[in-house]
Amino acid sequence: MTHTITVIRGDGIGPEIMDATLHVLDAMQLGLTYEDADAGLMALEKHGELLPAATLESIRRNKIALKSPLTTPVGGGFSSINVELRRQFDLYANVRPATSFPNTRSRFADGVNLITIRENTEGSYISEGQETSADGETAVSITRITRKGSDRIVRYAFELARKTGRKKVTIVHKANILKSTSGLFLKVAREVAAEYPDIEANEMIVDNTCMQLVMRPEQFDIIVTTNLFGDIISDLCAGLVGGLGLAPGANIGTDAAIFEAVHGSAPDIAGKGVANPCALLLAAAQMLDHLALPEQAERLRKAIVATLDAKDGVTPDLGGTGNTMAFAKAIAARL
Ligand code: NAD
Repeated sequence: MTHTITVIRGDGIGPEIMDATLHVLDAMQLGLTYEDADAGLMALEKHGELLPAATLESIRRNKIALKSPLTTPVGGGFSSINVELRRQFDLYANVRPATSFPNTRSRFADGVNLITIRENTEGSYISEGQETSADGETAVSITRITRKGSDRIVRYAFELARKTGRKKVTIVHKANILKSTSGLFLKVAREVAAEYPDIEANEMIVDNTCMQLVMRPEQFDIIVTTNLFGDIISDLCAGLVGGLGLAPGANIGTDAAIFEAVHGSAPDIAGKGVANPCALLLAAAQMLDHLALPEQAERLRKAIVATLDAKDGVTPDLGGTGNTMAFAKAIAARL
């Protein structure tokens, strides 16, 4: 079966890491076809808008997109393109694996192999109810948790555990203090967990989770949590395993799925050909899993690990002297 993928080359280092990623995917000969679509600063210059309707149509049609980082211009009333994509396609699950890799500047060269699943549409990140009093002395914001939102994210976590053979789901919350919002999330999570007796479930308060992650990350398998906690924890996890250059993320929704690097468009190194393509490549591996090609996803991950292990072509952020394309070619050669 052939798959058509919407490819968004993005801004800054985006085109460079996308070229590298497509080079590796092409070497795998998976029969993928690509449909280019514009978004970000590049789209603003070309079409006068950050997220053209044609791009949304392409994602709607193909239901799958591989996306490089986008620059959202500061000021001028532009809202975040990533937030808009999340809204358009109800991308409720943000799925961020963190795995130890060899030869990184990480504190954990092995032992970390976990996935953070962050609820992506509600919680503290709703735009309503954000107010500062007229005298500027008091600010209030609303957190909204729903049964539906909690149920589907926790269910996603348990289903993923079943599908991937993972054994344990840790439900992360702060229900001892945030009794209504985190309390509802925990209540629903317990109900859903009871439907999966084959998967171990445990509960952990978010502050303790942060300490445990730094002390003993090997105890975690899948973490599922609300929006704000997931945002923080997933970055903490990226830090455990070597930083942004190795951190992929998937945004999974009811209507589409978008795969991307966690890092931004890195304007400081754009155009120099030294960006690390691994985060986008690892996102492409997540995409292959999503396309029900798990063996190909594993093949890609193994080639990345073997290349890091051999320090072949690796980019300066990992202490190497290589460049983006040399790194990609070294990975392609190990497929
Ligand atoms: P950034 O992630 O772009 O860069 C932070 C630091 O990490 C920089 O020093 C950069 O050089 C380095 N870095 C990032 N990716 C790298 C890679 N692949 N290889 C080597 N080094 C890498 O964060 P920022 O500077 O805060 O943001 C820059 C722009 O990116 C902003 O316009 C922001 O809005 C945008 N952004 C987009 C996304 C997205 O589209 N998903 C995410 C975050 C930031």
